[in-house]
Amino acid sequence: MNNKISSYEIWFITGSQTLYGDETLKKVAQNAAQIVGYLNEKVLPVQVILKPTAKSTEEIFGLCREANYDENCIGIITWMHTFSPAKMWISGLKNLQVSMLHLHTQFNQDIPFEKIDMDFMNLNQSAHGDREFAHILTRMKIHRKIVVGHYQSESVTSKIQDWMRLCVGKDAIQNLKVARFGDNMRYVSVTEGDKVAAEMQFGFSVNTYGVGDLVAYINSVSEQSTQDLVHLYEKSYSLAKDLQANGQKRNSLIEAARIEIGMRSFLNAYECNAYTNTFEDLHGLSQLPGIASQRLMADGYGFGAEGDWKTSALLYVMKKMAFGLSGGNSFMEDYTYHFEAGGEMVLGSHMLEICPSIANENIQCEVHPLGIGGKADPVRLVFNAKEGPAINVSLVDLGHRFRLIIHKVAGLKVEKQFPLLPTARALWKPLPNMEIGLEAWLLSGGAHHTVYSQNLSAEMMEGFGEMLGLETIVIDENTDIQSLKQTLKINEMYHR
Ligand code: MN
Repeated sequence: MNNKISSYEIWFITGSQTLYGDETLKKVAQNAAQIVGYLNEKVLPVQVILKPTAKSTEEIFGLCREANYDENCIGIITWMHTFSPAKMWISGLKNLQVSMLHLHTQFNQDIPFEKIDMDFMNLNQSAHGDREFAHILTRMKIHRKIVVGHYQSESVTSKIQDWMRLCVGKDAIQNLKVARFGDNMRYVSVTEGDKVAAEMQFGFSVNTYGVGDLVAYINSVSEQSTQDLVHLYEKSYSLAKDLQANGQKRNSLIEAARIEIGMRSFLNAYECNAYTNTFEDLHGLSQLPGIASQRLMADGYGFGAEGDWKTSALLYVMKKMAFGLSGGNSFMEDYTYHFEAGGEMVLGSHMLEICPSIANENIQCEVHPLGIGGKADPVRLVFNAKEGPAINVSLVDLGHRFRLIIHKVAGLKVEKQFPLLPTARALWKPLPNMEIGLEAWLLSGGAHHTVYSQNLSAEMMEGFGEMLGLETIVIDENTDIQSLKQTLKINEMYHR
């Protein structure tokens, strides 16, 4: 897959004006360079590029236009070290298309009480310079992330990092192609949606490919590459007895490897980084892809079962945003509940396709019959998910708009045995508790399919929703049903 995270750039634009004279402007540029240097040392994963100080309407317009058209620039950080009269920003901002972080910082951390004089005041004006700038942003209704504090503080740098990941996500969602093998699962509502509206709002495209065309790729996979992948399976997972060499189901493993290779080459050929399939349309495929989808997800592909293109796109994007973080992101489905008083939890799983990036321990490779679909027994990876804080995220189409629903959960350690359950699984406790958390999800219209993330926070996903202009609902430790109902009503008006 094309992974261009290293070529991404965030531009740092310092606003000023010519009024101050060359001496002050030289200082402005030097101080900005020092801040950029610090951020590049501390802040990953995207490089910050210092741009010349913006001092006039024309310079600001030029910088904004360049930011739009530069292939690598995915966002700008703005800071008014001095006072930059904001009418100079109007034409640039009117045309700006990339996301903005307004860094309300100051070069010095402390007021130098003993030394402070009018020269110092002349240079260090962000306390009021940034207000002038923020006013025009508010008046022009320009979305931006505001980060307040000294640039060397941990809280500031970590907020900048999180925001950079959102910019990566926005770039990913704009450039994504989702392949659908087969249509939506018959009669299912929530996995449907307006693909044209999605492309207009998010940028990703969703198109259908014939299962038979995929099968042609699978059939042309060579014996050698199939054998090589089977060996990789043997090295990477503990294989069930019947899948080992001379085992009764060895052929299923060989067939699964062939499917995986064929799917990879098909997706590469059509430059699709996410896909859906459905057990109702597998014509010519011997088994529903299990291990193939699991391993493709682990490599960063988006996947949605039963034609769920929205979850597939979201999974790809969240995996891109989580680049380099420990923990994983997986397609997920709320499967069944444990209602024992005091020990309530949700068992999350799918019939096959859970991503091993969320796994806790050694991964078993097994083959079992699948009750639906009427195909041969599919090979799958079976494991328990890691414990720890997590979120479930769902993107739904409400008919006239999309809604992003984010639910904070506590991922639990899987201590029980599931001797008869042939799927990967996760256990979690919804916040604030089972009763309110689930009621809130149902009220919000969240899907049964989600992206389960161990490494992106609810705050980040809320920021991502805002960045995309999406209605965003967060269910967390503070959720109460009365105010959620109010929020949903007010949102109904706001998004009309
Ligand atoms: Mn499902």
